Amino acid sequence: MGINEKKARFKMIGSNNGRGGIFLDRDGVINRNILNPQTGEFESPAAVGNLSFFPGVAEALRGMRSLGFFLILISNQPSHAKGKATMAELDAVGDAVKRTLDDWGVPLDGYYYCYHHPKGITPGFSKHCECRKPGTLFVDEACRRFELSIGRSWIIGDRETDILCGKAAGLKTILILDPTSADRRGDTDPDYSAPTLLDAVDIIRRNIV
Ligand SMILES: [Mg+2]
Ligand SMILES: [Zn+2]
Repeated sequence: MGINEKKARFKMIGSNNGRGGIFLDRDGVINRNILNPQTGEFESPAAVGNLSFFPGVAEALRGMRSLGFFLILISNQPSHAKGKATMAELDAVGDAVKRTLDDWGVPLDGYYYCYHHPKGITPGFSKHCECRKPGTLFVDEACRRFELSIGRSWIIGDRETDILCGKAAGLKTILILDPTSADRRGDTDPDYSAPTLLDAVDIIRRNIV
């Protein structure tokens, strides 16, 4: 993005006075990616029974909240578009994540899910969209909704698409080094990397602006 484009973005999204937000990817950050034996790849959990949270997530989210950040989840969930899961299954997993975080006393401020995929097979879901990361549509929406300061905001994810999204939106970026996502990191260059979400909180705490 050129400097004029960046200036235009700040103008459009507004405020550099607002609070910061932390945009959280879900799979590989909050809960584990799960090995799909059919494809041999680590993917989003397709059933509530496969949902497994990383240790320290509640403590990490509490830490972010206590630093004054809005917490917003943004997740690509293309399994239905690819014909590998029903929307009911995806909704059940999403509901279970939300319920668990609520029960832990760390409710998030917003949940944004993209269910599309450009090479899917399910009509209506198989398409190019602007909400799928690295697209920044959901970041832009949340920035407007919560009047966030882009310059104070972060994105945390385990894949190249998360980091590219953050860079395109002007966020600071942290790559979580989950071993199951090693092959999806590409050669992107995050501002920071961290083994877990708890380590990410320490990075953010040291770099508050
Ligand atoms: Mg992920
Ligand atoms: Zn989408």
